Amino acid sequence: MQYRVLGKTGLSVSVIGIGALQMGNCTLEEAKAILQEAHVGGMNYIDTARAYGESEARLGQALKELELRETFILSSKGIKRDLASFQSDFETTLNNLQTDYLDLFFIHDVSTAANWKAVRENGILDYALELKKQGRIRHLGISTHDCQIGEQIIRTRLFEAAMLAYNPTNREAEDTLFPVCQQFGMGIIIMKPYGGGILTEKRSAEMGFSITAEEALRYAASNPYVTCVIPGTDQIDYVRLGLKVGSSPLSMTDEERRLIMDKIDIKVKNYCRGCGYCLPCVRGIPIPTVLKLYNRWQVFGGTDWSHMHQITEEYTVSVPDGHTADQCIGCMQCTKRCPFNLPIPDLMKEAAAKLRRYPASK
Ligand code: SF4
Ligand code: SF4
Repeated sequence: MQYRVLGKTGLSVSVIGIGALQMGNCTLEEAKAILQEAHVGGMNYIDTARAYGESEARLGQALKELELRETFILSSKGIKRDLASFQSDFETTLNNLQTDYLDLFFIHDVSTAANWKAVRENGILDYALELKKQGRIRHLGISTHDCQIGEQIIRTRLFEAAMLAYNPTNREAEDTLFPVCQQFGMGIIIMKPYGGGILTEKRSAEMGFSITAEEALRYAASNPYVTCVIPGTDQIDYVRLGLKVGSSPLSMTDEERRLIMDKIDIKVKNYCRGCGYCLPCVRGIPIPTVLKLYNRWQVFGGTDWSHMHQITEEYTVSVPDGHTADQCIGCMQCTKRCPFNLPIPDLMKEAAAKLRRYPASK
């Protein structure tokens, strides 16, 4: 297993760790087998969250019975936006995990301006910083799904690690947040390397991709900005795959990355790479953001409602009024700059027909 230093935390973290979102679905014996296999193979990072149902409790009991608590870098996350609930959740997290400290604690999913405001103004940020002073958490991080909000937060220098989504279907952070994190000495933990499950072997085939879970994992881990990738792990086979990838050479040539992107293109016609060369748009449309969401809409085909909700939420938050896809006037200025010759005005029309916004009161 290879290890990387998690930014200014100084922690030496295995390049592949355990994302324990679904660990609550495992029996105690299954959870113990997963942790034992990971430990023997050299994985040392586990991520869970108060919002992940029974995950924390199952992990806590398994770690206790295996006597491995001190061996792992243990991380959890709090998502509530009122102080009393956030505090209560933190105590529950420690109880569930049967520990008196966390190596890392994340303020979870701060992905909108309103959310970030609530974290600051409702006392949650101060409380988390106090936990760090008390030693109940060793390091403080932030998780976000929005690159613009993420950058604002990172620039405060209050956090030591960022948890970001990154995979071949979602590469926005690559050219935006990754360099900013590095500039501010923040380690990067990658969530959703399998695209929220769609790039695992079974779902990948269902979705019509020819990409494998191993390729998706290598894709994320081979990015030099990335410290640790935490694929969802509720089966021992996923641990074995993580150990295989984490113990193999991790560099990936541009050609290898392009080939993986081509496998996504088979499913998503006119796949936008999010490079931003097409900007600026004469109508101020954030073209890469609109097309990123339209890419995702095509992947999920309008049938997966939890993803559709996320797409609608992000379109509402990230694409300002007056700059939505329907504002495109077809001037073609952008198409001349797109290195992939995408028919951007056509794609704007398609996106305008498919993407929805929540009402203004949202
Ligand atoms: S064609 Fe549409 S998206 Fe492209 S620059 Fe013109 S208005 Fe913007
Ligand atoms: S230049 Fe082309 S590929 Fe790059 S963000 Fe714009 S539309 Fe997408």
